Amino acid sequence: MSASARTAAGSRPRPAALHQALGGWYARTRRDLPWRRTRDAYPIWVSEVMLQQTTVRTVLPYYEAFLHRFPSIRALSEAREEDVLAAWSGLGYYHRARNLHRAARHLTERHRGQFPKTLESALAVPGVGLYTASAVLSIARGLPLPLVDGNVRRVLARLFALRGPEWLRDGPFYNLAEEFLDRESPGDWNQALMELGATVCTPRRPACPACPVGVHCRAKALGIALELPEGRARRAPVDVTVAAALVEKEGRLLLVRREEGRLMGRLWEVPQTSLESRGLPDLAREIQERHGLRVVPGALAVRARHAITFRRIRLEGYRARLRQPAPVDPERYKWVSPAEAVKLPTSSMTRKLLRGLKDGQLPLDLQVR
Ligand code: SF4
Repeated sequence: MSASARTAAGSRPRPAALHQALGGWYARTRRDLPWRRTRDAYPIWVSEVMLQQTTVRTVLPYYEAFLHRFPSIRALSEAREEDVLAAWSGLGYYHRARNLHRAARHLTERHRGQFPKTLESALAVPGVGLYTASAVLSIARGLPLPLVDGNVRRVLARLFALRGPEWLRDGPFYNLAEEFLDRESPGDWNQALMELGATVCTPRRPACPACPVGVHCRAKALGIALELPEGRARRAPVDVTVAAALVEKEGRLLLVRREEGRLMGRLWEVPQTSLESRGLPDLAREIQERHGLRVVPGALAVRARHAITFRRIRLEGYRARLRQPAPVDPERYKWVSPAEAVKLPTSSMTRKLLRGLKDGQLPLDLQVR
């Protein structure tokens, strides 16, 4: 074992040494992302909410379009929920958009359309939790608040070789993050830790030889990086087939609205159901039970893959014919062209189906009887 490795394995790195190594690396190499070009709390807040459970690559086009449409907290607060959800369509986890909208109304009513300046008042905003409040306040306002997300947890667990039951809980990670926070530049420090976890100290392939804090890292010295962080057992992925009925009338597809109170409530979607045992008779029966529509499924027209949390979804869109007069309740049913559909709040799965159809597959040559 080399001298530096012995040092790393046997002693705790000093905060100042980590600040210098990681801060310098972040200043030199950080990705140029649009929310890093501002100190305005509103766009930073929007980015933090969008980035929860979603990758940077997915978020980028939504971020620009959302801020273009709702350029301020006040503008967002004045928007209809339907329009906010439409701008969010395809990003998934729609409760985030609803919370953002609700929070914007709260801030317009009580804080003159500004994000709060203290942790206490930020936590009083509906839908704003400790992570989001700390992220916005440390990055936009320079408040010395630590952040712990999955990336930070992994980096800290490895840097300090943290093992044992104590490190299955969040509290000790917050304490450690607070102890090592760079109080001179808390926003940059928090982002540097997350950036390291996202780009270098990744879950399965940590690039230890290129790591800016490798010389201080106990897990690297002990050769146990891949064993950390010790985790709560992961739920095994479940395979699900979602079958959808593509019902067309004069170049327009039939969409149905999900019920209020359900997951993704009030979003529009192609009538669909998840099939445990695959087969067309199930699709017809379940579409009738769930949506009150009598359909005759036909050929498979679109196939796609989707993933939500632990579910791996095989998405299949079947051409279908209505065996009843066209439904007319506008609160529940809508006939739309693919171009109109993307302006509605729709589920990610419906967007994938529509993308699969866009190459001239409409009309589907199906007639409503
Ligand atoms: Fe992660 Fe390896 Fe860097 Fe340690 S040396 S922080 S394990 S990338």
